[in-house]
Amino acid sequence: MKKNGMKQWLVAAALLVSTAAMAQEREYVIVVHGGAGAMGSLEEKPEIAQQYYNALDSALLIGDKILAAGGEGHEAVRAVINYFEGNPLFNAGIGATVAADGSFELDASIMEGKDLSAGAVAGVEHVKHPINAAYAVKTQSPHVMLSGVGAEEFAREQGLEMVEDNLYFATPKTMKWVEQFKEESKKNGTVGCVVLDKQGNLTAGTSTGGMLRKKWGRIGDSPVIGAGTYADNASCAVSCTGHGEYFIRHAVAFNLCARYKYLNETVEQAADYIIHKELNTDAGNGGLIAVDRKGNFAMPYNSQGMFRGFLYKEKGSSEVKKGCAIGQKVVTVGK
Ligand code: ASP
Repeated sequence: MKKNGMKQWLVAAALLVSTAAMAQEREYVIVVHGGAGAMGSLEEKPEIAQQYYNALDSALLIGDKILAAGGEGHEAVRAVINYFEGNPLFNAGIGATVAADGSFELDASIMEGKDLSAGAVAGVEHVKHPINAAYAVKTQSPHVMLSGVGAEEFAREQGLEMVEDNLYFATPKTMKWVEQFKEESKKNGTVGCVVLDKQGNLTAGTSTGGMLRKKWGRIGDSPVIGAGTYADNASCAVSCTGHGEYFIRHAVAFNLCARYKYLNETVEQAADYIIHKELNTDAGNGGLIAVDRKGNFAMPYNSQGMFRGFLYKEKGSSEVKKGCAIGQKVVTVGK
């Protein structure tokens, strides 16, 4: 072999080795969150805590069914978020928190790491499942984000399920806020889902009613690609929850992927740095879920708690591992 040929061969071999080292280590992974905030003490209220554990577990099992059958990440993310959006326990879809004018304005986004395609809607008031509208923006329009009336018109055109009355999103609990705006009953429960599917693709999605008493027209981090949601097959899929203004300023979801990609940090290191060091704990209150291209994941938060859950299958094993948590304690529901 000529000297040059040998050199090329060595470079190719080295590339092969490093690609193998970077390869997906878990068959599939799904991580979900149901919001971060002052819910840590719920661990001491077993009946209420159990409702959340059950809901998180149901969400994981919905994703598991799709991923185990070889479904794509975006299918799992949408199905999981659809479930959360229909569950009044969470601040997304029905159960969403209330804006200062007593209305419900919903935000959602989704991104796929294989081609960096993304879609988002902001401030929609009549779309039953905002995550589906975000996905339609991604797949059926040349845009990344649509807001307000335009987003609603687009969702209607796409044949998505609409609700005629904005109060559809109200629950007895949120109706009280509509009337009283009790700050002390502030609700945290934005939902998110990140997935590594069997094909090795990363997907992230987030859906929220935003923050209680937000100004009419306010848009948080959840529909902002790079702030509340990001996915890139070269690094990680990320979904955030917390005080959105801080997550936008720190471009949290993209920032995590950049640290992973350019500083060679692990997903845990990058996530911990951003949540615990970069964000001011008092003001930049919240957390995130992230999974990397190999299947490692992180779920840090700097608030009192974060509804969260994970499920994964190691390659070559038939066993699925899963867990749910609110505060520090991780519990397993069912098998
Ligand atoms: N990040 C969301 C927002 O600022 C709220 C949340 O996650 O609780 O709109």
